[in-house]
Amino acid sequence: MPIDATQPYDDQNIFAKILRGEIPSTKVYEDQWAYAFEDINPQAEVHTLVIPKGHYVSWDDFSAKASDAEIGGFVRAVGEVARAKGLVEPGYRLLANIGQHGGQEVPHLHVHICGGQPLGPMIAR
Ligand code: AMP
Repeated sequence: MPIDATQPYDDQNIFAKILRGEIPSTKVYEDQWAYAFEDINPQAEVHTLVIPKGHYVSWDDFSAKASDAEIGGFVRAVGEVARAKGLVEPGYRLLANIGQHGGQEVPHLHVHICGGQPLGPMIAR
């Protein structure tokens, strides 16, 4: 069920639990601002999620309320993961689902990094 992206942050969401180490994840990268791990249900040869360490429900919440340092750190981390995965030369896709129409399921901002193969049309038909 897609979430309402205007809801308050719920620190019992599954990505909050991953950040606290309460449930396992396959770590790809971590720094002061961000944590990256493999998607449990990959939709492409490479499918990695990057989340900010701060408590933000969605891209909307993050872009409105995060500090410049948090935003800069997070954006740099996404780029770092894509480079480390060797995705720059073949190309890749970033995706952030927001709320109901976006199909966002987990109420902690996450950017999907997908690649490793041609990804087809941007929007499912
Ligand atoms: P979204 O629809 O943008 O909210 O995407 C949520 C993503 O989280 C989906 O691609 C799921 O496969 C992924 N996911 C859910 N639970 C886990 C988990 N425990 N570990 C890794 N990825 C997960």
